[in-house]
Amino acid sequence: MEKIAVFPGSFDPFTIGHESIVTRSLELFDKIVIAVGNNENKKCFFPLQARMAMIREVFAGNPKIEVSFYDDLTVAFCKRVNAKYILRGLRTSADFEYERAIAQVNKMMYNEVESVFILTLPEHTSINSSIVREVLKHGGDVSRFLPHSVDLKKYL
Ligand code: ADP
Repeated sequence: MEKIAVFPGSFDPFTIGHESIVTRSLELFDKIVIAVGNNENKKCFFPLQARMAMIREVFAGNPKIEVSFYDDLTVAFCKRVNAKYILRGLRTSADFEYERAIAQVNKMMYNEVESVFILTLPEHTSINSSIVREVLKHGGDVSRFLPHSVDLKKYL
């Protein structure tokens, strides 16, 4: 059976921290579906289509990666795409506590799903999308936090 993982997140925007988690997980799974959460109640900096386009650009030509979106429960999305694994990244102990609760509740809702956590690289520990957005809002250069292939000018 194909091993399919869902990597869910807001990805507002997708950073080199996210890219590293996906790249390093590739050999664990046959397919990774990067699922951009579309939360109507959450005001995002980048519109859904831009967030998806940026991620597609990063992994263009990689047949093991798909980019999609969802606006319901993560486990409902997992069922739709036949994924038995939820991929998440861990940076700090705060991440761990947050992720632990989500993973345990997801497991209660869908017993066949397992959450898999990949530890961030030390140099990516302090990179997070909300700081990138803050720097962007004030006109700072965020290129060092974003994957190489992303041409931000197209999305601003
Ligand atoms: P969410 O709103 O679901 O937390 P994010 O886009 O902020 O979405 O993050 C998606 C996943 O990527 C989460 O598991 C988060 O911990 C992880 N992540 C975010 N930034 C990094 C990073 N710099 N290194 C490793 N993992 C990260």
